[in-house]
Order: sequence, then C-alpha cells, then structure tokens
Amino acid sequence: MPELPEVETTLRGIESHILNKKITSVIVRQPSLRWPVPASQLKQKLVNKTFSGIKRRGKYLLLESSGEFLIIHLGMSGSLRITQEIDLKKHDHIDIAFEDKSILRYCDPRRFGCFLWTENIDNHFLLENLGPEPLGNSFNGEYLFKLSRKRKTPIKNFIMNSKNVVGVGNIYANEALFRAKIRPTKHAGRVSLKSYEELSKEIVLILKKSIDKGGTTLRDFVGSDNKPGYFKQQLEVYGRQGEECKICSSILKNITIGQRSSVFCSKCQK
Ligand SMILES: [Zn+2]
Repeated sequence: MPELPEVETTLRGIESHILNKKITSVIVRQPSLRWPVPASQLKQKLVNKTFSGIKRRGKYLLLESSGEFLIIHLGMSGSLRITQEIDLKKHDHIDIAFEDKSILRYCDPRRFGCFLWTENIDNHFLLENLGPEPLGNSFNGEYLFKLSRKRKTPIKNFIMNSKNVVGVGNIYANEALFRAKIRPTKHAGRVSLKSYEELSKEIVLILKKSIDKGGTTLRDFVGSDNKPGYFKQQLEVYGRQGEECKICSSILKNITIGQRSSVFCSKCQK
C-alpha cells in the first residue's frame, strides 16, 4: 500500500512535469474509484488551465488550479506516473494530458483510490479531521504525551490514527515502537513523556529515511511507465515474527492489534 513516503516521492517525481503547463485533456476511463470520479467537473475545471501548485497532506496529494484543488489519494494500489505513451496498461483509469504531450496517468488495480474536486480544502470531509504532519513543526513527544492522557487505546492504534498524527502506517508503527522500546499493546495513556519523545523521534527518522530511499528510485519512476518501486527497507521487526530480535536474540512475537499484524520483542519492548 502506498504510504506517506511513497506519496511524498510521487509528489517530488511529478511536480516539475505538471506545474504551469496547459492542460489539454482529462480522460476518465473508469469513474468508479472509492468515490465516483466527477469526470465532467474535472474536464470543466482543468482543460485549458494549469496546475499552479502541488502539496501533500497526510497521504493526500492536493493539486491546485485557479484557487481550487484536485484531491488525489492512491488508495491500496494506486500509482501516478508521467508518460508520453499512447498505449494503455490494464487499470490505467485516468489521464491528465499537457500541452507538451506528457500525460499524468493514474493506475489503480483495486480502485480504492480517489480523484475528487474541491473549492475549499479547509473543510473538506477527507481533510478536516486530519492530525498534524509527522514531519511538521507541531509534531513531537510532548504533543503525543498531552493528547494521550487517560487514553486506554493501545499505543500502536493511537499513533496509527490519522486524527492524532497522519501517515504512520503499520510498518512504520511496528518499527518505531521497537526502536523506542515500547510494547505495541501498552495503553497510550500510560506511556511516559520520555518514551513519547523517543517514539516521535523514531517516527520522524523512519519516514525521512524512507523518503530518502524513494529519492533514489525517482529516476526510474518518472518518465518510464513502470510502477514506482516501493522502497525496500531495513526492517528490524516487521515481517520477522519467529526470527531472533537483532538486539537481544529473543524470538519476535506476532499479535494482531486492530486487525493489523504487530511484531515485537517481549524482552526489549516494555
Ligand atoms: Zn529484543
């Protein structure tokens, strides 16, 4: 599933190819994504206009045109690529074509992604309840500590809830909790300020590292019509259940929290 680093890498990859170029057509071949794609509205708003900016909020890409926004989410399996190819691959659902013949093409086999238009991003239902950006200034240990007092929810669910902080997917939650030595089932309200400081630091580190790795695959991604390669990372716990902890050699355990696999070391994580 595309996570925050893939979305950030996508942004960096497509930005220079789409900004300030006249849009010549919008083609929606498959409008049934997570929500119906408003094809005629997109054509009316975009053809003969330009994108003046692109930014990321959580895992949403926001492409600005004439003060309004195209909201894109990659869902479970979506990807964007820049191409000039006429030939389509299966699941290539949407094209936005530019005057220089390049095409921003959306592919999504499972169709859980979204392409929506909004005049105002501040009160859009997908965006208005999002917590702070983990790579932004308001995210730190003190923020998590204050927000979590009296919360009995497991810490892992707490940090994966986008109302508390956006973009901490399952892999990152597993890894950051291991590095901060916090057991994933611990009640969020019982985690100390010091541990939250460790945890917030680890979340930022792992996301930044993933984005940096993404940077190296960027060249392969833009201009080709292959799917973007998701980043192979050095993972300490995720996917390693039954193997030895790299710190203490205990066997890593796997439990399910909130229907997601949670791998941890019962000796290192308290
Ligand atoms: Zn251990």
